[in-house]
Amino acid sequence: MADECLFCRIIAGRIPSAQVHADDLVVAIRDIAPRAPTHLLILPRRHIASAADLGEADGALLGRLFGVAADLARSEGIAEAGYRLVMNVGRAGGQTVDHLHLHLMGGRPMTWPPG
Ligand code: AMP
Ligand code: ZN
Repeated sequence: MADECLFCRIIAGRIPSAQVHADDLVVAIRDIAPRAPTHLLILPRRHIASAADLGEADGALLGRLFGVAADLARSEGIAEAGYRLVMNVGRAGGQTVDHLHLHLMGGRPMTWPPG
Protein backbone atom coordinates (compact mmCIF):
# COMPACT_ATOMS: atom_id res chain seq x y z
CA MET A 1 0.00 0.00 0.00
CA ALA A 2 1.29 3.43 -0.96
CA ASP A 3 0.04 5.90 1.66
CA GLU A 4 -0.19 8.78 -0.78
CA CYS A 5 -1.99 6.75 -3.48
CA LEU A 6 -5.69 7.53 -4.02
CA PHE A 7 -6.60 4.02 -5.20
CA CYS A 8 -4.64 2.31 -2.40
CA ARG A 9 -6.64 4.43 0.04
CA ILE A 10 -9.90 3.48 -1.69
CA ILE A 11 -8.96 -0.23 -1.62
CA ALA A 12 -8.13 0.06 2.09
CA GLY A 13 -11.57 1.64 2.69
CA ARG A 14 -10.11 4.94 3.86
CA ILE A 15 -11.86 6.83 1.05
CA PRO A 16 -15.44 5.87 0.13
CA SER A 17 -16.21 4.39 -3.26
CA ALA A 18 -19.06 2.60 -5.04
CA GLN A 19 -17.57 -0.90 -5.01
CA VAL A 20 -19.01 -3.43 -7.43
CA HIS A 21 -16.57 -6.32 -6.94
CA ALA A 22 -13.84 -7.43 -4.52
CA ASP A 23 -11.72 -10.58 -4.35
CA ASP A 24 -8.26 -11.52 -3.12
CA LEU A 25 -6.48 -9.88 -6.09
CA VAL A 26 -8.67 -7.08 -7.47
CA VAL A 27 -11.32 -4.53 -6.52
CA ALA A 28 -13.74 -2.84 -8.95
CA ILE A 29 -15.43 0.51 -8.36
CA ARG A 30 -17.61 2.92 -10.31
CA ASP A 31 -15.68 5.83 -11.79
CA ILE A 32 -16.52 9.05 -9.92
CA ALA A 33 -16.78 11.01 -13.19
CA PRO A 34 -18.27 8.49 -15.64
CA ARG A 35 -17.57 9.09 -19.34
CA ALA A 36 -20.12 6.48 -20.39
CA PRO A 37 -23.37 5.06 -18.92
CA THR A 38 -21.28 2.19 -17.51
CA HIS A 39 -17.79 3.27 -16.42
CA LEU A 40 -16.02 0.98 -13.97
CA LEU A 41 -12.40 0.80 -12.82
CA ILE A 42 -10.81 -2.56 -12.05
CA LEU A 43 -7.84 -2.17 -9.69
CA PRO A 44 -5.24 -4.65 -8.48
CA ARG A 45 -5.08 -4.63 -4.67
CA ARG A 46 -1.28 -4.46 -4.95
CA HIS A 47 0.14 -1.03 -5.76
CA ILE A 48 1.48 -1.15 -9.32
CA ALA A 49 2.10 2.31 -10.77
CA SER A 50 1.17 1.54 -14.37
CA ALA A 51 1.08 -1.09 -17.10
CA ALA A 52 4.70 -0.15 -17.80
CA ASP A 53 5.60 -2.02 -14.59
CA LEU A 54 3.94 -5.31 -15.57
CA GLY A 55 5.84 -8.45 -16.47
CA GLU A 56 5.37 -12.14 -17.06
CA ALA A 57 5.13 -12.79 -13.31
CA ASP A 58 1.87 -10.78 -13.28
CA GLY A 59 0.08 -13.22 -15.59
CA ALA A 60 -2.35 -14.53 -12.95
CA LEU A 61 -3.23 -11.01 -11.84
CA LEU A 62 -3.87 -9.90 -15.41
CA GLY A 63 -6.02 -12.94 -16.05
CA ARG A 64 -8.11 -12.02 -13.02
CA LEU A 65 -8.29 -8.33 -14.04
CA PHE A 66 -9.64 -9.17 -17.50
CA GLY A 67 -11.84 -12.02 -16.26
CA VAL A 68 -13.51 -9.72 -13.72
CA ALA A 69 -13.96 -7.09 -16.45
CA ALA A 70 -15.76 -9.64 -18.65
CA ASP A 71 -17.96 -10.76 -15.72
CA LEU A 72 -18.84 -7.16 -14.86
CA ALA A 73 -19.65 -6.37 -18.50
CA ARG A 74 -22.13 -9.26 -18.38
CA SER A 75 -23.65 -8.20 -15.05
CA GLU A 76 -23.91 -4.57 -16.25
CA GLY A 77 -25.78 -5.78 -19.33
CA ILE A 78 -23.30 -4.39 -21.89
CA ALA A 79 -21.52 -7.58 -22.89
CA GLU A 80 -23.67 -8.39 -25.89
CA ALA A 81 -23.55 -4.89 -27.42
CA GLY A 82 -19.82 -4.57 -26.81
CA TYR A 83 -17.72 -2.26 -24.67
CA ARG A 84 -14.26 -0.79 -24.31
CA LEU A 85 -11.36 -1.74 -22.03
CA VAL A 86 -8.72 0.97 -21.65
CA MET A 87 -5.48 1.26 -19.71
CA ASN A 88 -3.90 4.71 -19.91
CA VAL A 89 -0.12 4.75 -19.36
CA GLY A 90 1.75 7.88 -18.29
CA ARG A 91 0.77 11.53 -18.68
CA ALA A 92 0.68 11.64 -22.50
CA GLY A 93 -1.35 8.42 -22.38
CA GLY A 94 -3.97 10.15 -20.23
CA GLN A 95 -3.11 8.49 -16.91
CA THR A 96 -4.00 10.73 -13.96
CA VAL A 97 -3.90 8.20 -11.07
CA ASP A 98 -0.63 6.31 -10.73
CA HIS A 99 -2.14 3.00 -9.58
CA LEU A 100 -2.79 0.60 -12.44
CA HIS A 101 -6.47 0.42 -13.42
CA LEU A 102 -8.49 -1.01 -16.26
CA HIS A 103 -11.38 1.18 -17.45
CA LEU A 104 -14.51 -0.74 -18.46
CA MET A 105 -16.77 1.56 -20.46
CA GLY A 106 -19.99 0.83 -22.29
CA GLY A 107 -23.65 1.58 -22.71
CA ARG A 108 -23.08 3.83 -25.71
CA PRO A 109 -21.28 3.46 -29.03
CA MET A 110 -17.54 4.22 -28.76
CA THR A 111 -15.67 6.21 -31.36
CA TRP A 112 -12.23 5.36 -32.71
CA PRO A 113 -9.58 6.57 -32.25
CA PRO A 114 -10.13 7.91 -28.72
CA GLY A 115 -9.02 11.54 -28.26
P1 AMP B 1 -6.83 7.67 -15.61
O1 AMP B 1 -7.03 9.07 -16.14
O2 AMP B 1 -6.75 6.64 -16.68
O3 AMP B 1 -5.66 7.61 -14.64
O4 AMP B 1 -8.14 7.32 -14.82
C1 AMP B 1 -8.38 7.76 -13.51
C2 AMP B 1 -9.86 7.68 -13.30
O5 AMP B 1 -10.13 7.72 -11.90
C3 AMP B 1 -10.65 8.84 -13.93
O6 AMP B 1 -11.59 8.33 -14.86
C4 AMP B 1 -11.32 9.51 -12.72
O7 AMP B 1 -12.62 9.97 -13.01
C5 AMP B 1 -11.32 8.39 -11.70
N1 AMP B 1 -11.35 8.81 -10.31
C6 AMP B 1 -10.64 9.80 -9.73
N2 AMP B 1 -10.91 9.88 -8.42
C7 AMP B 1 -11.81 8.88 -8.15
C8 AMP B 1 -12.48 8.45 -6.96
N3 AMP B 1 -12.29 9.03 -5.77
N4 AMP B 1 -13.35 7.41 -7.08
C9 AMP B 1 -13.57 6.81 -8.28
N5 AMP B 1 -12.95 7.18 -9.43
C10 AMP B 1 -12.09 8.20 -9.37
ZN1 ZN C 1 -1.82 2.49 -5.09
